[in-house]
Amino acid sequence: QKTDLAEMLEEVVDRFSFQLRQKAITVTVKVDHKQKTAWLDRDGIDQVLDNLVSNAIKYTLDGGAIDITAKSNEAGQLAISIKDTGIGIPKKDLNRIFERFYRVDKARSRNMGGTGLGLSIAREIVRAHGGSIQLESESNVGTVVTVLLPILPEGSETA
Ligand code: ATP
Ligand code: MG
Repeated sequence: QKTDLAEMLEEVVDRFSFQLRQKAITVTVKVDHKQKTAWLDRDGIDQVLDNLVSNAIKYTLDGGAIDITAKSNEAGQLAISIKDTGIGIPKKDLNRIFERFYRVDKARSRNMGGTGLGLSIAREIVRAHGGSIQLESESNVGTVVTVLLPILPEGSETA
């Protein structure tokens, strides 16, 4: 569907307004003026964004910040980034967290709820759309997850 990116991202944030308020996390949404809309499978991408924003909230301490941006990159892809100021992911776990049921440090995750499926599902959906997910993280500094999607011509069947 033809999608207004700012609207889509604001709607994701709205779906988490309760948790965000509860943890006093501030959110900014920024969309590049050169890429205000995109042709997207909204059901799939909404599910991806919900999983990533849910993680950003869950693994960020009270009073933290989440910045969400959308733009087109040099490779001609749509890049949606979700950046948090959370607990981050240790280097040794970085290449495993997309595995099903993998969670960093069971002790730290136990009382946070969840099954360890969010990222693997997100990656599956993004790949099915011809895209990829990149993740950068530093312990106790934060995490940036970037979803890269092909920019489809309007009317494409896959969306
Ligand atoms: P679920 O998403 O199924 O509720 P989950 O959040 O534990 O459970 P994933 O979303 O797959 O599972 O994430 C896997 C693990 O990666 C998490 O348990 C957490 O340790 C780590 N992780 C994911 N996102 C972040 C983030 N933004 N900051 C810090 N750690 C993260
Ligand atoms: Mg999750």
